[in-house]
Amino acid sequence: MAALGEFELIAKYFSRPARRVPLGVGDDCALLAVDPGMQLAVSTDLLVEGRHFLSTVRPERLGHKSLAVNLSDLAAAGAAPLAFTLALALPRADDEFLAPFAQGLYALADRHGIELVGGDTTAGPLAIGITVFGQVPAGGALLRSGARAGDDLWVSGRLGDARLALEVFRGNVSLPGTAFEELRLAMECPEPRVPLGLALRGVATSAVDLSDGLAGDLRHVLRASRVGATVEVQALPRSAVLAAQPASLQHECLLAGGDDYELLFTAPAERRAAVQAAGAQAATPVTRIGRIEAGAALRFVDGRGTELALAVRGFDHFA
Ligand code: ADP
Ligand code: MG
Repeated sequence: MAALGEFELIAKYFSRPARRVPLGVGDDCALLAVDPGMQLAVSTDLLVEGRHFLSTVRPERLGHKSLAVNLSDLAAAGAAPLAFTLALALPRADDEFLAPFAQGLYALADRHGIELVGGDTTAGPLAIGITVFGQVPAGGALLRSGARAGDDLWVSGRLGDARLALEVFRGNVSLPGTAFEELRLAMECPEPRVPLGLALRGVATSAVDLSDGLAGDLRHVLRASRVGATVEVQALPRSAVLAAQPASLQHECLLAGGDDYELLFTAPAERRAAVQAAGAQAATPVTRIGRIEAGAALRFVDGRGTELALAVRGFDHFA
């Protein structure tokens, strides 16, 4: 099949007319509007082959994940998605990649009512940069800095499956095919928790999305909020497949895993019913996993409250 030119490929795959925003793809800038009393929430994530995804990933799943990791940041802020831009570096402009990639991207975009409004396209090693725009009531965004001593610590969904899938890809763990497919779906098709983020507005005191492992991402919240925390490791929600692994591997996947794209958030202990109601409204499981404390220490404890000596760190590209 003949390769496409730059403008041909933009026209063919990335020029769907915008319906909700004032101006979409095709001019020098897109134009966005937020509702009165709202602030614009903006976030960018860059995905590079070999770093953030493996060359074996199916293009439709890559399209999904590229947008999902960005929507996850809007979710963590409690923002409603509006629009996104797509910067694409491609080794080749071929339909075999672009058609399913665009399909996966638009399928997720349509489910969240978010529109592609612009971007940039260049030849180069495969990399995907997306910027998302959302809106949140002025002063009402969920921040990392709002956790207070005495708050409960909560997490959505379950943790560690994406990291366990990576261990299978690396050849460190072997699993039956069906179990592997389940984990692989968690790694390649994360579900951004946008409805939960919206439902937690006015309930959660702080929130962060888990992209680099709970231990590292929680430390960001603790530092920003100037507090400490105790995490009950046994309470961390996990799949049956992960629960069947040795304890040390479970801890690694649950706490230092990365690629979970669940929300970690805090709320006052008096708001437990409101948090449960937010989870129910968003059809997203929520689990209480610990509490925020005065001081700056992060402690991991077992079911009896005995401290566990775990040397887990969050992911750092340059460490
Ligand atoms: P400029 O030279 O002004 O940067 P381009 O020629 O790069 O414009 O792009 C033309 C139009 O196509 C612009 O509206 C731009 O936002 C859009 N565009 C380019 N690449 C993409 C892409 N991958 N996805 C969506 N829109 C794109
Ligand atoms: Mg350009």
